Amino acid sequence: MSDKANCIKSTRFEDGLIIPGGESTVQGKLLKELGLFEPFKKMIENGLPVFGTCAGLLLLADKINNDDSSYLQTMDIVAERNAYGRQLGSFYTEADFKGIGTVPMTFIRAPYIKAVSEKARPLATVDGHIVAARQGNQLVTAFHPELNDSLHIHKYFCDMVANQ
Ligand code: GLN
Repeated sequence: MSDKANCIKSTRFEDGLIIPGGESTVQGKLLKELGLFEPFKKMIENGLPVFGTCAGLLLLADKINNDDSSYLQTMDIVAERNAYGRQLGSFYTEADFKGIGTVPMTFIRAPYIKAVSEKARPLATVDGHIVAARQGNQLVTAFHPELNDSLHIHKYFCDMVANQ
């Protein structure tokens, strides 16, 4: 069985939460309309491992610097939305991820992290901007690990789930 399948097989649905990329405004609206906003916020505050990628990062951020909206606000980071411009500002790069080494990173209308409090710890930077961070049970990346072959970041999150 592949590493990816193993990782998925040994992880139960209720063990962790991935908030994927997409459109943070739509996801935020749906969380409220579907009655998931408060339950998710409580579960994360109570220690449920959560991984937010791109729009997911925005949903977890305490503040979005260039937007009036904020969502779950469980992570002590300030995000800059659409920080690289619009669709044409999407790009691929490779950079160091703390504890892993060089990983591929695909950014699609991505945010970056403008500031972290002392509770959150930067895990990767690109051109001087923080693009991944961790705060206890919460992991965020401004890029999309699922769009490249490397499974290192998936494994990093599986380990967070296994060690909770
Ligand atoms: N630009 C989107 C937003 O602000 C995020 C894009 C993504 O998730 N790839 O919500």
